[in-house]
Amino acid sequence: MRCPFCAFDDTQVKDSRPTEDNTSIRRRRQCSSCGARFTTFERIQLREVTIVKSGDRRETFERRKLEQSIALACRKRDISQERIDRLISGIQRQVETTGDSEVPSSKLGEMVMDGLRQLDSVAYIRFASVYRDFSEARDFEEFASSVTEVAEAGKQDD
Ligand SMILES: [Zn+2]
Repeated sequence: MRCPFCAFDDTQVKDSRPTEDNTSIRRRRQCSSCGARFTTFERIQLREVTIVKSGDRRETFERRKLEQSIALACRKRDISQERIDRLISGIQRQVETTGDSEVPSSKLGEMVMDGLRQLDSVAYIRFASVYRDFSEARDFEEFASSVTEVAEAGKQDD
């Protein structure tokens, strides 16, 4: 792999090990010419997918971003990391096998909500409440209010 600092074509792998969740390999590399060190990651990617957001903005689908938003939704819930990883891998597989190189962000959002709904109702509500393009906002509000009515008991009247 080419050195990002001096563009020399020969860099050496100094260390290679799986990341904690065992879904990728992390390699420490060193340039044979300038001696600079950098890290690369090897991950499974079935195909390159672009997520199309509102306003026609596009960005490459990245598992890391999916991990971040799901981790946020599941924070402090009693859900094993294994189940969370399985959910993320399942969504990634769905995204990469839709047969389309472009996936609307709304569709990705639905995949995440479907997965979280089966995993944990609180995580589902957290994700859905920050998800702006939620397509059934009204149903969601009714659902959310029925679940949170205990916490909201003091706010019934203005
Ligand atoms: Zn170099």
